[in-house]
Amino acid sequence: MNAAETPPLALYVHWPFCVSKCPYCDFNSHVRETIDEARWRSALLADLDHAAEETPDRRVVSIFFGGGTPSLMAPKTVAALLERAAARWPLAADVEVTLEANPGSVEAARFQDLRQAGVNRVSLGVQALDAAALRFLGRRHTIDEALAALAVARRHFARYSFDLIYARPGQTVAQWEAELDRALTLAGDHLSVYQLTIEAGTAFAAAHARGDFALPDDELAGALYETTQARLAAAGLVAYEISNHARPGSECRHNLVYWRYDDYAGIGPGAHGRLSVGRDKVATRQRRAPETWLAAVERDGHGKEERTTLTPEERGEELLMMGLRLADGIERARFRAECGRDVVEVLDRARLDPLVEAGFLALDERRLRATDAGRQRLNAVLARLLA
Ligand code: SF4
Repeated sequence: MNAAETPPLALYVHWPFCVSKCPYCDFNSHVRETIDEARWRSALLADLDHAAEETPDRRVVSIFFGGGTPSLMAPKTVAALLERAAARWPLAADVEVTLEANPGSVEAARFQDLRQAGVNRVSLGVQALDAAALRFLGRRHTIDEALAALAVARRHFARYSFDLIYARPGQTVAQWEAELDRALTLAGDHLSVYQLTIEAGTAFAAAHARGDFALPDDELAGALYETTQARLAAAGLVAYEISNHARPGSECRHNLVYWRYDDYAGIGPGAHGRLSVGRDKVATRQRRAPETWLAAVERDGHGKEERTTLTPEERGEELLMMGLRLADGIERARFRAECGRDVVEVLDRARLDPLVEAGFLALDERRLRATDAGRQRLNAVLARLLA
């Protein structure tokens, strides 16, 4: 079989280091005083080689550098990984190469070199256009730095996106509207807008439990969500996923791979992968702690901790959890191809039908999807559907 006949592949590269830990963040991100980048570069290259051996004859359609803060990587590390990827897999002519970046001046100064290394899309963690909110979120950059970084990103990358976080303590709908309107003057063809949530084990979890701050109640959070949807839709940025908005055709192709449950390989600490192997689907997971991962790669030639073949039930559940995030939902034919049965045979009708009747899910002959109301409270909908 050649690469044109096998499922396309996306590659995720995890860089696990940040300058400081944001209080809301539960990602696999760590602060270290010094990082031996040459050693990390070698290890990531070895892990990439191993991933390539496991995915022969695949065509890579997307490469995504996430973290952590991958904009802290030296551009020559990014270049080395992209060169190696191109040597190990055929790359699609229009391969999307995204790098997540902090909008600080140090990072922005690297954008030109990153462009030359082969990055063609950046996603900037702006998070807020409000000085007090940036301080509350523990961000190191200022609004002016974010604006300057966006200007540099626009100069070097035809495709860029930035993230915002809303439903912050004390935020009103009027304030958020004004912030969104300002964001729209800076946006390209893609914007990610996340609701602030309190994740276990974070500094915010402890502060919230102590009563240091309160989040907006459900009613206000719902009004902020609806404001987001309305404002961005009016500006032509369609909500193609719960938190992601784009002009049609400018969606993040890498993230679509996850939500459509297509194949991806993950390298670096804590990275996950989903790979079709014949008719099976294999889940892979890398060792999570950076130093443990590094030692494993140097010892074994890869950082993988687990490789399991998923059951049809697990595949169906994962496809539902991913696909219902998308405005388009899940094609029933795709579901059948993934787990061998129709979605209405797999799901308990006593659970599915009330969610359809209540207007949270929509089912027709072709697809199952979450409605706007369903996507707004998808965790609750999934809990009822899959419990
Ligand atoms: S910069 Fe991003 S990955 Fe790093 S701690 Fe902050 S939110 Fe987490």
